[in-house]
Amino acid sequence: MRKTGHMSVGQGVLMLLFPPKCVGCGELMPLKDGMTHVFCPFCRTKWEASRLDPQERILSWDDSVCGLVSVVGYTSGKAEGIPERLIYHLKHKDESRVFKYAAREMWPLLCDILQTRDASQENILITYPPRRRSALVKEGFDQARRLAEALSKLSGWPVETLLERTLSGRRAQKKLNAEARAENAVKAYRISRDVVELSNTTVILVDDLYTTGATLRTCADLLIETGAARVILATLGRTKHHSG
Ligand SMILES: [Zn+2]
Repeated sequence: MRKTGHMSVGQGVLMLLFPPKCVGCGELMPLKDGMTHVFCPFCRTKWEASRLDPQERILSWDDSVCGLVSVVGYTSGKAEGIPERLIYHLKHKDESRVFKYAAREMWPLLCDILQTRDASQENILITYPPRRRSALVKEGFDQARRLAEALSKLSGWPVETLLERTLSGRRAQKKLNAEARAENAVKAYRISRDVVELSNTTVILVDDLYTTGATLRTCADLLIETGAARVILATLGRTKHHSG
């Protein structure tokens, strides 16, 4: 597997044909930074300033079984903000350098939380809440899956599709209020049919954004009911004012 930061000839040609742009401001990236960074130096400073306070990045979530890690604060409706631009990019553009960058940002927090939870490094699986079928058709990819795959490359832990959408999970969460979101989420997911047993397993549930937590709560409950020893929720962004 190719290592981060090294470029194949094919990638080099692609970079010359389609030079990468800064995800924050859209300016062309300096060539030396194009594969390792997604932000120009100016936007990178802003990204760093958007990181959550250290004590906010890792939260206990409801009980000792679950934990939540997130890298940056996210403000709904702030379209020009740097974290908001990056998450928009993840949802709508299928660019591997951006997923790789997001995974690298999340990785140290995951290492920290696993250490404090005393999780065995042997039985770790990465999974994700699958995107709605209509969104999958429209965008052509599943951003949470891509993020899970990027984290898998970094960590060596396998990605498994443990969750699936039910037929009733057709409503978009973002159009609903918190209560309706929770109700909709419970109906929208189930454990994939071929998953039998998760005992002794730590499941890392990856998503781009934590908003009300309705989706991730539902999915974490399903995983625990199926026997997972722990569920660690890992998101790149967390909506401010909803820390738990
Ligand atoms: Zn920029």
